[in-house]
Amino acid sequence: MSIYAKVEKGPAIEVFALTQAFKDDSNQNKVNLSVGAYRTDAGVPWVLPVVRKTEIAIASDESVNHEYLPVTGLDPFTSAATELVLGADSIAIKENRAFGVQTISGTGALRVAAEFLHTQLNRNEVFYSNPTWENHHKIFSDTGFTSLHSYRYWDQSKRQLDFNGMLADLDQAPPGAVIILHACAHNPTGIDPTQEQWKQIADLMEHKKLFPLFDSAYQGFASGDPDRDAWAVRYFVSRGFELLTCQSFAKNFGLYCERAGNLTVVQQHASTKAAVHSQLTLIIRGMYSNPPAYGARIVSAVLNNPALRQEWMDCIKQMSSRIREMRSLLRDKLVALGTPGNWDHIVNQIGMFSYTGLNENQVRYLIKEHHIYLLKTGRINMCGLNTGNIEYVAKAIHAAVT
Ligand code: PMP
Repeated sequence: MSIYAKVEKGPAIEVFALTQAFKDDSNQNKVNLSVGAYRTDAGVPWVLPVVRKTEIAIASDESVNHEYLPVTGLDPFTSAATELVLGADSIAIKENRAFGVQTISGTGALRVAAEFLHTQLNRNEVFYSNPTWENHHKIFSDTGFTSLHSYRYWDQSKRQLDFNGMLADLDQAPPGAVIILHACAHNPTGIDPTQEQWKQIADLMEHKKLFPLFDSAYQGFASGDPDRDAWAVRYFVSRGFELLTCQSFAKNFGLYCERAGNLTVVQQHASTKAAVHSQLTLIIRGMYSNPPAYGARIVSAVLNNPALRQEWMDCIKQMSSRIREMRSLLRDKLVALGTPGNWDHIVNQIGMFSYTGLNENQVRYLIKEHHIYLLKTGRINMCGLNTGNIEYVAKAIHAAVT
């Protein structure tokens, strides 16, 4: 008998299974609203023009080679990424209390962060929002965390943040617990706390000695303004928290498969940096030795050059505005159709996703009868909508609800 015979087949990963089902579907009206990737109004992926230009410049630069990067990545990339999230005038950067290490996109940043928290800081308890990006649970459980909890976040009946529930659940967390917070554009709900609410979250976390781990996968992509999208992280730093931030450049640079990410460490004192940096180096060395250079070179070239950076800022404005337009259009079409219910949450949410409030039966109906693919939680990727298919989708949602 094969030694592999005892391996049981695991469950499918919903988002990838849906994309495959979409590819296999021959219906010409099919729409993919599942996977979190940007699409233009023509429904195709977008290589940001500034990214394309930079790729060409790098490819034709004779001095660029394919030697290994250092274990913790490309320094001009990690410093630019750290500055992007903490701000050019960050006191933590000025005082040498903050630094970054390059990671395999946002997922890799979370995995390295989890490993560091578990093995170096003896953390075993983590709290993530309910709902959250489904990989949070897997990453922390694969790392060895055995105490995994969710805190309330989404109020399904009101289709808004369950802020009191969130505070009540965080209040139950033991001192030292790791709290995963979405820096902006919460995935999957598209609902972020207000600045006033962030202040209350910070008060509670300070009082209860909870450890903030910010997941920042959408900076700039959410509002079109990277400073605005980093407000919560910067506020926590200004309050004196020690924290970790996991950055992804998948969405805001459209570099999905290039796996450009950064883990930023904010410490109370510069004196802990050498030891923390060395342990992160050892963790990465044992996991994958060193990160890929391609995406990091592009991000670094763009962020470190004022003219290119401005072009990038124009691109993220363009992407976020298109998403906002789709939000208004979808809401307006549902209202015009007289679809039962209130659809204002679609325009009040931010970022790539909308938690529509559609239930599992309605989702099944949309997939089966209308070839519109979305997660069973009712989450849709707004970028999958465009002027060519929005009427079709609105009418299908209307039919699903009525
Ligand atoms: N966190 C959240 C909340 C996300 O939505 C994503 C992307 N789906 C990630 C992290 C990580 O993505 P990546 O590894 O592609 O950077």
